[in-house]
Amino acid sequence: MATTLNGPIVKMPPQRTKKTLGLETVEPAVTPPPSNSTETTFTKKPKPVSKSRKKEIPEGLWTKCPKCAAMIFDKELDENQKVCPKCQHHFPISARERINSLVETCSFEEMDADMLSVDPLTFTGVAAYTTKLEESKKKSGLKDAVITGVCKVGHHRIGLGVMDFSFLGGSMGSVVGEKLTRLIEASTRRTLPCVIISTSGGARMYEGMFSLMQMAKTCGALAYHSRAKLPYISVLTHPTTAGVMASFATVGDLIIAEPAAMIGFAGPRVIKDTTQAELPPGFQTAEFLLDRGLIDAIVSRKEMKTQLISYLDFFTSARKQPAA
Ligand SMILES: [Zn+2]
Repeated sequence: MATTLNGPIVKMPPQRTKKTLGLETVEPAVTPPPSNSTETTFTKKPKPVSKSRKKEIPEGLWTKCPKCAAMIFDKELDENQKVCPKCQHHFPISARERINSLVETCSFEEMDADMLSVDPLTFTGVAAYTTKLEESKKKSGLKDAVITGVCKVGHHRIGLGVMDFSFLGGSMGSVVGEKLTRLIEASTRRTLPCVIISTSGGARMYEGMFSLMQMAKTCGALAYHSRAKLPYISVLTHPTTAGVMASFATVGDLIIAEPAAMIGFAGPRVIKDTTQAELPPGFQTAEFLLDRGLIDAIVSRKEMKTQLISYLDFFTSARKQPAA
């Protein structure tokens, strides 16, 4: 306290001289005060102001929108369900965040939460599969690339599966396939509609044939679900490709997608190299596929819950909902 009190007292004399100079006459005040005042103000004022400004900037975390280049405050982005408020660009969103944005509070009963991948082939590519699994667990906070469970969306009780791209590119290995199959089978047993939200780079090649078998297994379970006349809605988000796109993601009674999501089997570069042809503009986007009838609707993330409820209303209007 002593030093801070001393500071202004020591600095007072130059101010007094300024006042005396200014009060004496107008003429001498023209030359001396500016030189004195500028020296004193530059040493006093700019330092604390610039320091506080520098401290303020790193406190907030900002994200640059890749589409419109706007700088968005992270908190604002989170509150807007990871959608750019300026141009509606849909940023990646985690499975947990997506579930929170869709289901009724405390209604989500997770299934098979502790199911873990094994390394049946002791596969080693650039890195060992076991190492990759451990890295992904730490990075994503998940045990594998999908979360499944039974929940309520509006007044509908449904089976819900949500994939997460941050876990090994949302790839479908034995755990993803098994969890989804159990979800679909549970939905069939309990006569519930099923909704699966996909984002995936395809089958998990670390598991070789075991990953490919999940394509047939999930579709087999969906066939029984369909035979029970229960609705299945597939939601495709950026990106949904390869083995997932070639199996459960495209056999929905209703297939909907988020705006500008990349959807396809092989990537555009592979197709261009194989066909040796120029690809049309917008190739493999949700909008391109809507025009050509592969998907039924494009629904923005912020409208997703309302739209899902209205689609479920439509599907279940003919049959009574089981008691929740
Ligand atoms: Zn934007």
